[in-house]
Amino acid sequence: MYEDKTLACRDCGSEFIFTAGEQEFYAERGFLNEPQRCKPCRDARKAAAKAEREMFTTTCDSCNGVAVVPFQPQNDRPVYCSECFAKLKEQRDAPSDERAVMGDLL
Ligand SMILES: [Zn+2]
Ligand SMILES: [Zn+2]
Repeated sequence: MYEDKTLACRDCGSEFIFTAGEQEFYAERGFLNEPQRCKPCRDARKAAAKAEREMFTTTCDSCNGVAVVPFQPQNDRPVYCSECFAKLKEQRDAPSDERAVMGDLL
């Protein structure tokens, strides 16, 4: 039988309980490793991973239209809608900071 186990979270260092039920759940699915993080840290990582895949809606720096981008828009660099982005992509002499944005989008 399984017994509750106290583990230390590798992210925040706090102790958390790896319950008997969870151990059984892990064993049933063939997970060999014990959880490395407490529930709040696991949830935070899941949320972060999900946020990375989310699309962000912002204002196009070029035409002021709606721009949807796969990253959190930063105030320190321009973001373009797909139309303006396509136009800019054709411009070989784009300034380097615009190239950096394109690199992120490609
Ligand atoms: Zn933690
Ligand atoms: Zn635009």
